[in-house]
Amino acid sequence: MDLYEYQAKELFAAHGVPVLPGTVATTPEEARAAAEKLGQTVVVKAQVKTGGRGKAGGVKLAENPDETRAKAEAILGMDIKGHTVHRVLVTTASDIAEEYYFSFLLDRANRTFLAMASVEGGMEIEEVAATKPEALAKVPIDPLAGVDLAKAKEIVAAAKFPAEVAEAVAEVIVKLWDVFVGEDATLVEVNPLVRDPENKIVALDGKVTLDDNARFRHPGHADLVDERAEDPLEARAKAKDLNYVKLDGQVGIIGNGAGLVMSTLDVVAYAGEKHGGVKPANFLDIGGGASAEVMANGLEIILSDPDVRSVFVNVFGGITACDAVANGIVQALGILGGEATKPLVVRLDGNNVEEGRRILAEANHPLVTVVDTMDNAADKAAELAAAGV
Ligand code: GDP
Ligand code: MN
Repeated sequence: MDLYEYQAKELFAAHGVPVLPGTVATTPEEARAAAEKLGQTVVVKAQVKTGGRGKAGGVKLAENPDETRAKAEAILGMDIKGHTVHRVLVTTASDIAEEYYFSFLLDRANRTFLAMASVEGGMEIEEVAATKPEALAKVPIDPLAGVDLAKAKEIVAAAKFPAEVAEAVAEVIVKLWDVFVGEDATLVEVNPLVRDPENKIVALDGKVTLDDNARFRHPGHADLVDERAEDPLEARAKAKDLNYVKLDGQVGIIGNGAGLVMSTLDVVAYAGEKHGGVKPANFLDIGGGASAEVMANGLEIILSDPDVRSVFVNVFGGITACDAVANGIVQALGILGGEATKPLVVRLDGNNVEEGRRILAEANHPLVTVVDTMDNAADKAAELAAAGV
């Protein structure tokens, strides 16, 4: 789960990372009141889970409460890269002497944690990495050793932070590591980390991604969930305990077992190349016991995705045999009735496959095509999606 800047900064503050005081506002009037309370020049910042707000006009200075109100009015409701702004953060403005970049992240490719730091902060770090890679220090972190002051100083030296702030930056880095480990994050990013004219170091922006698999260890993190920012289909699937991830293609996918579904995505993407580049629309693993109800829930979610033009049901019968799955599909289509409007390609194999195919043949549902192999079924599903039936 990605957090908003204001939420990230709350976690920063809880771990002693220096941030400036601020208040979240959902209306221009609330923003005005927040500025009044802060009693000085403020920055009004769009709270959206995407970067580049500054460039998009979502970060504005305001010198007094009335100006804050006006700036908030302009920013609230704005669309930034497809994200609607529902909240702004009204925070004390800082005088900036220098902007730096800092992050801790999970480096999956190298199976380790990584610290990245640069004295070229402010601009997008992808740009620094592309145009000036030598200005971005990358220091692997041994997860067992973690980051103590000595390790933090090594990072500071690698990134060539100025001597006057080296000690202060190292102390902040230790605290950011505390956020990373203590909150079970997979990303903690500060851009910019600033030096003010008094050489004080402050996290002016914050981006945190929490590891959802560790949610059980942090009951408090439940409060950080913002349903409005979640994909509505994913939220509905979660409420029904389905393992569903929305993707951006046109072929709906249902399978049993994460491994099978993953390979189904690959096979569909490959088949789709021959059919105008259609792609999988989602990941959905209905798990071992594919009951009619689970199948109906899964189909209902997938069929309500307006991008979906065909559905590929790919099931390998194991403990739950193919005849039970076939009955599940037939009953699910019965439950959905007129809601089922898109063609289904079904591939069954494994335990009791003949009986499963017999049941589907007997039901003879007009939307269902049974195909014997995974490759042929993927091809059929891609073809139907491309035809836009
Ligand atoms: P982002 O564009 O979404 O990453 O938003 P940031 O929070 O990083 O803000 C973008 C830029 O706005 C920063 O790099 C700063 O240059 C500027 N900015 C943000 N807060 C302040 C502030 O308090 N004072 C000043 N002078 N500039 C700020
Ligand atoms: Mn930023």
